[in-house]
Amino acid sequence: MPDSQYDLVIIGSGPAGSTTARFAAQHGLKVLLVDKRQELGAPIQCSGAVSRHALEEVGITPDAEFIHEPIYGFGIYNGRGEKTTIDYRRLKPEEYGPEDGKKPLGYVVDRRRFDRYLMTQAERAGVEVWLKTEGLSYRPDANGSCEVFLRRFNQEIKVKARILVGADGLQSQVGKWAGLRTHIKITELASCLQFIVDQVETEGLLEIITGHEWAPGGYAWVFPKGHGYAEIGLGVISTMTDKDAQWHLDKFIRQSFFKDRFENSRILEIQGGGVPLAAPLRTQYADNLILVGDAARHVNPITGGGIHTALSGGYIAGNFLAEFLNSGQPPTAQNLEGYQNAWLEALGNKMWKLYGVKADIFRNNDIEERDALLYQTMAGYFSPNSEYKKI
Ligand SMILES: Cc1cc2nc3c(=O)[nH]c(=O)nc-3n(C[C@H](O)[C@H](O)[C@H](O)COP(=O)(O)OP(=O)(O)OC[C@H]3O[C@@H](n4cnc5c(N)ncnc54)[C@H](O)[C@@H]3O)c2cc1C
Repeated sequence: MPDSQYDLVIIGSGPAGSTTARFAAQHGLKVLLVDKRQELGAPIQCSGAVSRHALEEVGITPDAEFIHEPIYGFGIYNGRGEKTTIDYRRLKPEEYGPEDGKKPLGYVVDRRRFDRYLMTQAERAGVEVWLKTEGLSYRPDANGSCEVFLRRFNQEIKVKARILVGADGLQSQVGKWAGLRTHIKITELASCLQFIVDQVETEGLLEIITGHEWAPGGYAWVFPKGHGYAEIGLGVISTMTDKDAQWHLDKFIRQSFFKDRFENSRILEIQGGGVPLAAPLRTQYADNLILVGDAARHVNPITGGGIHTALSGGYIAGNFLAEFLNSGQPPTAQNLEGYQNAWLEALGNKMWKLYGVKADIFRNNDIEERDALLYQTMAGYFSPNSEYKKI
C-alpha cells in the first residue's frame, strides 16, 4: 500500500474520533486521524462532566492528568430552589467516596487535556495523527475506496481510504458531503454559555437548575472545577426567549436563589457553544462513510451530555469497522447500515426513547406543567434506578 492509502480516515479528533481510531487500530486497521485545530480541545466548549463508567467502558483509566474534580452525585433544583439530592456517598457509602478503596461516580475533566490524552492513546495503538489538517471533501471512486481531500498546513493534499469517518462535531460538514440530512432545527439547538469562577463553594455534586425562569428550553448548572473553582452556566433554546444566553446567565447569577452564594464570585474565563438537544440522525452512513459523535447527533437530548455517547459511539464504530473491513465486504451504504444497526441496539434505541420524553415535555405549552415535568424527569434520570443510567 502506498503511504497515502488508509483503511480509515477520520475527520475530527474529539472523543468520538479518537476513540473510533483507537479501537480500529487495535484491531489492525491502518488509520489516519486528522483535526483542523493545532491544539486539541481548545478553545474549550464543554463543562467536562463525565461518568467514571463511561471512561472505564472504553478502557480509559481515570488519570490525574485530565481530571479537575471527582463527582459523587447530583443536586437537582426546580425553579423555586427546591432540591432533590442524589448523593452516592450517602446512598451507597460502602462503594462511593473519597476514602481509600472507594470510588467517585464521575469526574469533571479538563477537555483540553482529556482530548490530548485520548488522541495519545490512539497514537499508541498505531494511529497516525495529523493536526492542523482540515477535511475539505470526499469522493467515492470506482474501486470501492474513496479519495479524501485535506488541507494540511495550508497545502491541499489527497489521501485514499476505504472508509471515511465523520467525527467532526456539531457543525459537521462530512455528512453534508455525502448528502445526508444533518440539519438541526433551531428549536433543538441549545445555545450555551458558562463562566469559570472562583469563590463559589461546591460539594462534589453536579448541580442542575431547571425552570423556564432561569433557562428557557434548557437548564442552568453549577459544576465543581477543582482548586476552588466552579463552572456556572446555562443553555437556552433561542425560540423560547427573546434574550440571549448571556442575559439569562447574568440574571441567574444576580437574581436566582443562589444570588448570595454567587455574591463574591469573580469570572476568570468565559466559554460557550451549541448543543444539539435533537434526535440522532436517521441515516448515519453513506457509500464509504459513517458519522459518529455530535456529527451523528449522538447527544443525550435531555442533559445535552455528549462525551459518554461520543466515547461509546467511537467504541461501537471502531470495532464494527474493523470487523467489517476484515470481512472483505465492499463499503457501500447498504452494507454500512450494519454500523447504525449495531449503534441502535447498543445505545441508539434508548436515545430515541429519551428524545421522545424530551419532545413530550417541550410540546407542553403550560410553563408550570413543563417545569414540573422537566424537574421530575431530570431527578428520575439521575436516580440510581434510572433505566437510562448508561447514556
Ligand atoms: C458549553 C458546553 C458544555 C458541555 N458540557 C458537557 C458536559 O459537561 N458533559 C458532556 O458529556 N458533554 C458536554 N457537552 C457536549 C460535548 O462537548 C460534546 O457532545 C462532545 O465534545 C462531542 O464529541 P465529538 O468528538 O463528537 O465532537 P467534538 O468534541 O466537537 O470534536 C470534533 C472535532 O472535529 C474537528 N473538526 C471539525 N471539522 C473539521 C474538519 N473539517 N477537518 C478537521 N477537523 C475538524 C474539531 O476541531 C474538533 O476537534 C457540552 C457542550 C457545550 C457546548
